[in-house]
Amino acid sequence: MTGNDMQHRTGRSCAVVGVNWGDEGKGRMVDLLTESYDIVVRYQGGGNAGHTVVNDRGKFALHLLPSGILREGTVNILGCGVALDPENLCSEIRDVASKGVAVTPDNLKISDRASILMPWHRDLDELEETRLAEKKYGSTKQGIAPFYSDKYQKKTILAGELSDPDRLAVRLRDLLEWKNLTLTKVYGAKPYDIEEITAWLREYCEAIKPYICDTGEYLRMARAHGRSLLFEAQLGALRDLDYGIYPYTTSSNALAAYAPIGSGLPSLRLTNVIGVVKAYSTCVGEGPFVCEMFGDEAEKLRTEGAEYGAKTRRKRRVGPLDLVATRYGAQVQGTTEIALTKMDVLGYMEKIPVCVRYEINGAETDRFPFPSELDDAKPVIEYVPGWGCDISGARRWEDLPAAAQSYVRMVEQAVGCPVTYISVGAERDSIILR
Ligand code: GDP
Ligand code: MG
Repeated sequence: MTGNDMQHRTGRSCAVVGVNWGDEGKGRMVDLLTESYDIVVRYQGGGNAGHTVVNDRGKFALHLLPSGILREGTVNILGCGVALDPENLCSEIRDVASKGVAVTPDNLKISDRASILMPWHRDLDELEETRLAEKKYGSTKQGIAPFYSDKYQKKTILAGELSDPDRLAVRLRDLLEWKNLTLTKVYGAKPYDIEEITAWLREYCEAIKPYICDTGEYLRMARAHGRSLLFEAQLGALRDLDYGIYPYTTSSNALAAYAPIGSGLPSLRLTNVIGVVKAYSTCVGEGPFVCEMFGDEAEKLRTEGAEYGAKTRRKRRVGPLDLVATRYGAQVQGTTEIALTKMDVLGYMEKIPVCVRYEINGAETDRFPFPSELDDAKPVIEYVPGWGCDISGARRWEDLPAAAQSYVRMVEQAVGCPVTYISVGAERDSIILR
């Protein structure tokens, strides 16, 4: 065991969370850290995630599967807070299997309290975005918003209910009666019948049944045996339902504070929270993005950073590092340390733009504003020296040019939290530990 292993094992619990708008490189960090943790838990979100991981087994775009699935011996859990999408999950399991990664009930466990995302959730997502037309929210149309609305209305099926077909049939009939009203009378769409849904359950839910268990109990036992836990968030702080840029948020809580609840260990206290910050900003979908860059400058950064969505292939919107949003993101996440990713991408810039404050109605502020005020905010940009070279081969702090070290220190100072990992490439070992 290395020193790093020792530090992380012995019952530690750590959340790896996004500080920005998502796509900061959480999957990449989880893949690295599974060396030192026994169990990885996804605690919110669904198949709308796209976590890209590059390691010795290949390149993977994971959606619902926790990134620990790629490490032999790591146990992966989908907690009660996730949107359990059986269609996406089945195709993802097949996809990783085709690349030599076996998914079995030993390395994947699904909470019996996780709600199932049904075919109508995807339909309703699409129908509502179409109705909104140019006022759309920029949904990935994976059914996430209708799914969580139904969960809070107590109108979803829990994974554990699949084991009692008779009772399930009764529940489904009730749900269908209600859901068909919305589909037909609100949207003029086609209703579902019970035969169709039964066939759907047979096709997708039978396949996931072997993985379903009481993951809360599993985790409690694991804790009692001193196993260490890693929680993998989807999206970032600014997309959190309660603390993000509402209504351009996701429909669940992406914050570290939710990890214990969404995983099955509601009373757990996390020992550390690693906030993943990208060295510049990106954002997928609609909503205010104060520091957004346009034109050639944006196109260049997008190309250098390969900023296209893993799930949707959508062009990501790009901009300079936003210290106002990053400080806020780190604060609501309660980060104890920062992993700064994609530092290598900035190597082409002679001077690097950074958004240091916002200007709102003529007044400058470093406070992240209330969501609706964001429309009036303009970025205050300052330039810091670039390093103008390729740093993707750096593996030690001393290998970094002075300007890159200053950039890291600037982030630490602005956020008030140490940067302990600096990522200089997508591959597992393209990392500097500090
Ligand atoms: P996540 O959703 O937070 O897991 O992040 P994504 O996987 O959606 O987006 C991050 C992208 O950047 C992925 O394509 C990663 O392979 C890639 N990536 C992560 N870290 C680095 C890095 O340090 N340098 C470079 N060049 N790419 C990185
Ligand atoms: Mg992503």
